[in-house]
This record gives sequence, C-alpha cells and structure tokens, in this order.
Amino acid sequence: AASPSKRYSITLLPGDGIGPEVISVAKNVLNLAASFEGIEFKFQEMPMGGAALDLTGVPLPEETLSVAKQSDAVLLGAIGGYKWDNNEKHLKPETGLLKLREGLKVFANLRPATVLPQLVDSSTLKKEVAEGVDLLVVRELTGGIYFGKPRGFGTNEDGAEIGFNTEVYASYEIDRIARVAFETARKRRGKLCSVDKANVLEASMFWRKRVIQIASEYPDVELSHMYVDNAAMQLIRNPKQFDTIVTNNIFGDILSDEASMITGSIGMLPSASLGESGPGLFEPIHGSAPDIAGQDKANPLATILSAAMLLKYGLGEENAAKRIEAAVLDTLNRDFRTGDIYSPGTKLVGCKEIGEEVLKSVDAQV
Ligand code: ATP
Repeated sequence: AASPSKRYSITLLPGDGIGPEVISVAKNVLNLAASFEGIEFKFQEMPMGGAALDLTGVPLPEETLSVAKQSDAVLLGAIGGYKWDNNEKHLKPETGLLKLREGLKVFANLRPATVLPQLVDSSTLKKEVAEGVDLLVVRELTGGIYFGKPRGFGTNEDGAEIGFNTEVYASYEIDRIARVAFETARKRRGKLCSVDKANVLEASMFWRKRVIQIASEYPDVELSHMYVDNAAMQLIRNPKQFDTIVTNNIFGDILSDEASMITGSIGMLPSASLGESGPGLFEPIHGSAPDIAGQDKANPLATILSAAMLLKYGLGEENAAKRIEAAVLDTLNRDFRTGDIYSPGTKLVGCKEIGEEVLKSVDAQV
C-alpha cells in the first residue's frame, strides 16, 4: 500500500441487532481499500440507538452527536429492536436517528437500486425487465409535506372534522437538492429525471421551474421531467430507462421503497444522506434484523456498499470506492453468498466469512 497522504476521521455507529456485525466487517473493508489510495482513517466508535439507551438513557447521547459532527463522515449500522418497542415514544431508538439527521443537517437522501447480474433471480420483476437496472433516487429529506405548516386537525366551513398538511418548498431548498442531484448524475451516467406533479400542484410547478434554472449550471447532464404517477408505473414497466431520479420528500419516500423492491435483496442496498457541508451519513437501508442478530448470518454487503458511497459521495475518493464495488462483484462472481441471497450451486457463508472474501477481492485487484 502507498504511504498515507490523506487522513480522514470516521465515526462508526454500530447500533443494534446485526449493526455491530456488519459495521465490524465494513470497517475492515473500508480500511484496506483506502490504504491502496494512500488514505488513512481514524475511526471513532460511539453508542447510538437502543445500545445507547441502555447505556445512557437516551438514543443519541450528546457526545455521539458532537463526535459525529466533527468527523469527516459517519457510518451507521442499524438501530432498534423488539427490546425497546414498548418504550415511551420519545425514548425509542429510532428517534435518535431523526435527531442525528437533524444534527448533521443532511437534506439529500441517496438510494441506489441496482440489479446485479449475479442476483437477477432475486428481483421481483421478470428477468428481461430487471436485467441491467442501475438507478439512484435522490430524495429531499427535510422539507415538503412532512414538515410544512400549517398542519393539524380542525373543522371546515361545513363543520366537518378535517386533517390537513401543507406541501411547501422554498427556492433555496429546491436549489440545493437539485445541485446534489446534478452532481450525483455527473458521477453516474449523466442523466437526471426530476419527478413531480406539476400538472396539479403549485409546489411542484415551482419545483420544476427551479430545477430547470439550476440545470443551466450543469450543461453536461441530460435533464428530463416525469409526473410521479407515471414514474411509479415506469419503475415497474421499464426501470432501465432511469439513471438518477430527483424528487421531493413524500414522492421520494414512496419511489425509493418501490425501487428497492425491484432488486429483491434488502441485504444489498446502501444509502447516503448528504448536507451542504459537514459530514454525510452512510447506512444500509435494512433494519437491525433482530431475528438473525448475533448469529453471524447477516449480509454485510449493504454496509460495505454504504462504505463505498462514503468514499465516493462523502469524501470524493472515487478510486477507493470503485475498488470496493469491484470487490463485492468479484466476491459474488466467486459464488460466495449469505443466507438472504443464497441460491443452489453457490457457497453459503456467514457474515464474517463473506467479509474475509471481500477483503481478498480488495487485495487481489491491481
Ligand atoms: P426496520 O423497521 O428497522 O427497517 P424491519 O424489521 O422492518 O426493521 P429489517 O430489520 O430490515 O426490517 O428485517 C427485515 C427482514 O430482512 C428480516 O427477516 C431480516 O432478517 C432480513 N434482513 C434485513 N437485513 C438483512 C441483512 N443485512 N442480511 C440478512 N437478512 C437481513
């Protein structure tokens, strides 16, 4: 390995359930891949989620947040589990994750959905449709109808009870998510599809107008627009047409879950949450999987691929990221599988062992 020239500090938040198992594997992969690029990491492991609740009484201790904020990137395992399900609401492990996102000021959630050739049979779609799917949804995370005011319950002019929410976006909120999306598309295949409901909603008309304005800063990216109802249909009918999708909070919530179902492999899907400056948050989309925790059965590849996103989108270290992605493909090509992606004729291994194989694949590359 090259002598270290770049140093980054990484906060590790293993969390609960299978979190510690997958983080321990991903940390080793991250370390080895980075060493080939002359990168050195300082890791700081901090308590978070149910583990932190048991230890300190809160799911996100002050010290965890302050260490995370001062680091260059945060890698999270998973949080929650049956054990804490009957807690007072404000003490649920999941509230720690909301506080962490708030504290890190991340507003862009990136969720790739890739159908790998080795796992095409796991897809919920027909082989011809699923083959070659490689898309990424950029979801706005801190605005829109989930946060807009006014909201609440009341009565209308007729005296009937009502519930209401407000879809609202300010110019700066759209501009910054659009820029993240264009930058992301640039790092991928250079195509961006903005999804809205501009035929009906003023907030969407405004969204489209601002996205078109920001597009002038990115002449190399090909921009298109699609209504959300059509996008939901096209994701099932012909998902290959998409590269990068950008959309608001609620549409992104729905479409990113829809997109991940196409792949059929929850143990393979990474995510990134980015802010304007400051550290990004990188985590697998799966939960803490308490049903298999502590049994060395978890698939660590989603967390390993989250580590690749950390390098690519968090630190701009694309070569090290590519090395990890290639190592995951190579490991699958050598037929190693955890239980969740196993098929007859492949080799069933545990979390640690598939991690060792990924390390070998990282090492074997020129
Ligand atoms: P949450 O609400 O926190 O997302 P959940 O219970 O809905 O949690 P998961 O914890 O993701 O969802 O688990 C759903 C199922 O997928 C479980 O059966 C779990 O064992 C399986 N699963 C999730 N992640 C993995 C993984 N990395 N490797 C293997 N199986 C997994």
